[in-house]
Amino acid sequence: MKVYIIGASFAGVSCAMHARKLYPEAEIIIIEKNGIVGFLPGGLLLHLQDKFKSLDDAVFTTEEQLKEQNIKVKLSEKLLDCAPEKHEITTTEDTYHYDKLVLANGSEQKSLNIGLENDDEWDPSFKNYDLSNKILPKIQKAATIAIIGAGQAGMEAASTFVDLKKEVHLIEAMDYPLFKYFDPNFLKPFLTDLQKIPNLQFYFNTTVSEVTENGHYEIFLDEQKITSDYVLTTVNVHPQLAQFAKRFQLHSDNTVQTDNYLETSAQDVFAVGDLIHSPIRIREEGAYLPQINHAIRSGVVAAENLQQTRMKFKGGLRTIGTKIFGWYLASTGLIEEEAFVYSNEIATKSFTQSASLVDDTPVFCKAVFEKSSKKLLGIQLLSQVNCLEKINTAALAIESQVTLTELMQNDYFFQPEFTNLMEPFNRINMESGDQNAF
Ligand SMILES: Cc1cc2nc3c(=O)[nH]c(=O)nc-3n(C[C@H](O)[C@H](O)[C@H](O)COP(=O)(O)OP(=O)(O)OC[C@H]3O[C@@H](n4cnc5c(N)ncnc54)[C@H](O)[C@@H]3O)c2cc1C
Repeated sequence: MKVYIIGASFAGVSCAMHARKLYPEAEIIIIEKNGIVGFLPGGLLLHLQDKFKSLDDAVFTTEEQLKEQNIKVKLSEKLLDCAPEKHEITTTEDTYHYDKLVLANGSEQKSLNIGLENDDEWDPSFKNYDLSNKILPKIQKAATIAIIGAGQAGMEAASTFVDLKKEVHLIEAMDYPLFKYFDPNFLKPFLTDLQKIPNLQFYFNTTVSEVTENGHYEIFLDEQKITSDYVLTTVNVHPQLAQFAKRFQLHSDNTVQTDNYLETSAQDVFAVGDLIHSPIRIREEGAYLPQINHAIRSGVVAAENLQQTRMKFKGGLRTIGTKIFGWYLASTGLIEEEAFVYSNEIATKSFTQSASLVDDTPVFCKAVFEKSSKKLLGIQLLSQVNCLEKINTAALAIESQVTLTELMQNDYFFQPEFTNLMEPFNRINMESGDQNAF
């Protein structure tokens, strides 16, 4: 079996590695348009934070590691077109025949229509290696940086630049940051803290109409203008759809349609990662989930199904965790603001407890659940202590359709240095409004 995989990032590499284990005889070839495999999308920020010595180190795998597993990698080669009826692909180098094709060519962040699209000197994002290399010196030199979009990537960039003592302007169309993952009131302690940061300026409810470059960048907002040394955009993530995408059926949001086994409308062609629309376990309708964990799991499931339909892809819950501006933030599942996407009535509970018996730093927790059944639907966590790992327990509880009553009896370890008397999830169902009850 000859398997061609397009894209050497999370989805493509996880698919190749799992396929290698499942089909020892298969020939597995990855085609990647960049000159490097496995670059971390936050690699630029991690390098600026001194966590990686150079951008070349900011990778989760290397070409050598893949070769050791007998996975061929063709770098600096781009897929141009494919003819599924002939099981044929055309790249910048050649034409190849496949038995199975996996499209793992991911997403990009373009088409903002702010006037800079044709400016060769400007690149909007820092997700891939080439762009990160190109903009690194510009970021290092810039005293002022404007970021368009206060989602996870925008907030992580802002936090990094603030620590580097740059003047940061963060522009967001919504009225608060991280709106996909958190309810506005829940973020109050965090947002209040951010107001004290002198070199960080937010512009909420604001859209950028135009950006011009003339030595500096001028960013035109609804009612004002900002001048900065560099501009980054961290919005508008969408599938990287080139000419060949027309060969497959797409959803209205331009994601590639697949069946439950991740096969596209063309036989023997699979699509994974940031290209696809996925089931969300708490919603009836699927959604776009551009996340690494999702990309990796979908790559693995596609590998399972290459020879025969063995495993359905279950999608995800949009679980995230991050540390920004000294705060740990994590979220999984449904938030109250998007109750409209859930078919039954929801309810919420919020409470605060100290991190452990020896550390009174507050951990803020909000649970969203189905009102009638008390089935857990979502959790948000916020603290200045590391509470991130708890979100994975929450995701498992939601996937397992656990109720708040059942969570009361969930078994957690107790150790006074690391835990409070009760774990937050044990407490959710208790009616006490006393924030220091436990
Ligand atoms: C700045 C930033 C930070 C992020 N941080 C996180 C995080 O911390 N956690 C998280 O869960 N998610 C994060 N994300 C989202 C995450 O990057 C994506 O969900 C993930 O990379 C998707 O993986 P993928 O393999 O599907 O696609 P991609 O990572 O987009 O990779 C696609 C690959 O295909 C290649 N390719 C594209 N077209 C072609 C072609 N025609 N021919 C050959 N090769 C091609 C590309 O060069 C690329 O290497 C971040 C996103 C950004 C922008």
